[in-house]
Amino acid sequence: MDIKLTKAQIKEAAQQAFDYASTVTGGENAHYIPYLANIDSNLFGLSVMLPDGTAFNFGDTTYKFGIESVSKVPTAILAMIQDSPQGVLEKIGADATGLPFNSIFAILLENHSPSTPLVNAGAISACSMINPKGNSEAKWKAIVDNITDLCGSAPVLIDELYRSESETNFNNRAIAWLLKNYERIYDDPSMSLDLYTRQCSLGITCEQLSVMAATIASHGVNPLTGKRVFDQAISPKITTLIATVGFYQSTGNWLYTSGIPAKSGVGGGVLGVLPGVFGIAAFAPPLDEAGNSVKAQAAVKKFMNILGLGLMNGDFVTIAD
Ligand code: GLU
Repeated sequence: MDIKLTKAQIKEAAQQAFDYASTVTGGENAHYIPYLANIDSNLFGLSVMLPDGTAFNFGDTTYKFGIESVSKVPTAILAMIQDSPQGVLEKIGADATGLPFNSIFAILLENHSPSTPLVNAGAISACSMINPKGNSEAKWKAIVDNITDLCGSAPVLIDELYRSESETNFNNRAIAWLLKNYERIYDDPSMSLDLYTRQCSLGITCEQLSVMAATIASHGVNPLTGKRVFDQAISPKITTLIATVGFYQSTGNWLYTSGIPAKSGVGGGVLGVLPGVFGIAAFAPPLDEAGNSVKAQAAVKKFMNILGLGLMNGDFVTIAD
């Protein structure tokens, strides 16, 4: 079916979704990272960006929050840019674990594989893949430059969050060394873990995340800067990873009910991609039991349902002025 939308309709749907989700309560801030436990639970933002750079922003969309697991998306893209989509498939994998984001059991169950760059194990492995190997500062620069290209503006390290995570990331330390044991770490394990922890501690805004989402939806071209950030062949690969594991063990439920591939982080951020149509981001700190933001989920789902859109619907969607 052909679906013709106007920008006014999209703006109105986003406003309605924001208003609705503002009334949704429940969930709790992530408690296992001290910094996140203390963030104001009432913050809430929703941002939509179209492929022509048109932006719709509601609420706290310029507040810098911890990007956390959403950082797994840009670094998976960077590993695909520097190596290849096939290389990421062979070195890390592209399978859902069906288990929590920090599961050690998943590594053992999946024949010693990190499964996907979008869970902790695979993300630490992806950090180890980044070039130039053995040079922490140069690798860090590559990771941050890539996020800057995807967002059209730079993220900022939240030092307090980085310290907070570094002092408490015992489970991730175990993952890094277990992966080393199974030859799934392609650089120094401690350096790879530190880069992963640092990238999770980057502060990002809802507006920036919506630009990153729109860059993926626009097959690698940043709608704000016009820069081609990655080859268009990477776009369906990263969107597939997001669709299969973006919401951890509740990913199937999410895609079934919302229709949009999306990646969440325990900082409360959600990044959603409807290929060729738009990028969307939402942010609110309280999380459900799987670690996904309650309000952000409500907002994105409502937006999709109002517009009657869905990745699997098979519709041809056009947006007019
Ligand atoms: N830095 C967090 C961790 O490694 C990220 C988890 C997430 O956002 O899912 O536990």
